[in-house]
Amino acid sequence: TKPSYKWRRVLLKVSGEALAGDQTQNIDPKITMSIAREVAAVTKLGVEVAIVVGGGNIFRGASWAGCSGLDRSSADYIGMLATVMNAIFLQATMESIGIPTRVQTAFRMAEVAEPYIRRRAIRHLEKGRVVIFAAGTGNPFFTTDTAAALRCAEINAEVMLKATNVDGVFDDDPRHNPSARLLNTLSYHDVTSKDLSVMDKTAVTLCQENNIPVVVFNLTKPGNISKAITGERVGTLIER
Ligand code: UDP
Repeated sequence: TKPSYKWRRVLLKVSGEALAGDQTQNIDPKITMSIAREVAAVTKLGVEVAIVVGGGNIFRGASWAGCSGLDRSSADYIGMLATVMNAIFLQATMESIGIPTRVQTAFRMAEVAEPYIRRRAIRHLEKGRVVIFAAGTGNPFFTTDTAAALRCAEINAEVMLKATNVDGVFDDDPRHNPSARLLNTLSYHDVTSKDLSVMDKTAVTLCQENNIPVVVFNLTKPGNISKAITGERVGTLIER
């Protein structure tokens, strides 16, 4: 029988903001649980799922560096540590419903999580484990979107699924302009040339150079994660 999914291995990018939902707390446990449930459903179909988590719900380096007198690198290290907190929260949630999950960090914190080892990450995926990549790229001045594009290329994932709080990419900001239209498809060039605030340019360029399609979709709508993971049309598709 024909498998009901399109992708075999996906990289799911979950931003910190998406994890916070509309809570005043940094993390909404309802969101992490819904991610865990939907990921569980697709791993049972045999889709391999790796996740990169952001940290913007806790700490964003660039904004702190500007206002606090912190140098940018120190601020960014704090930001990367924030992603580790989200990763451990998500891992614990996944394991609470029986999904074997490993966290790998871009810099060593061996008491807390495995260090990032590419071949080992791939091995975990092949065994049906979910792998959460934390601490971004391990370098200041980058974003977790860039980390997602990088890990996606490294582990040969077929697509980067970027989970956000909005339905996809619009031709204008839907929060300010109610008649803004959702765009179904876009090219990498559209994203960079029209300055659409989907991802930073480094991340877009990395996707473009490695021919990684990106699906931008709304995480807060039930069923959307599984749809995006199983290759159903959802949100905005960015490709060549
Ligand atoms: N960060 C970094 N290098 C990376 C990835 C992240 O320095 O490779 C830091 C940066 O300070 C960033 C913070 O970690 O502001 C949180 O990541 P990001 O803003 O990408 O999270 P998201 O927007 O997805 O919540």
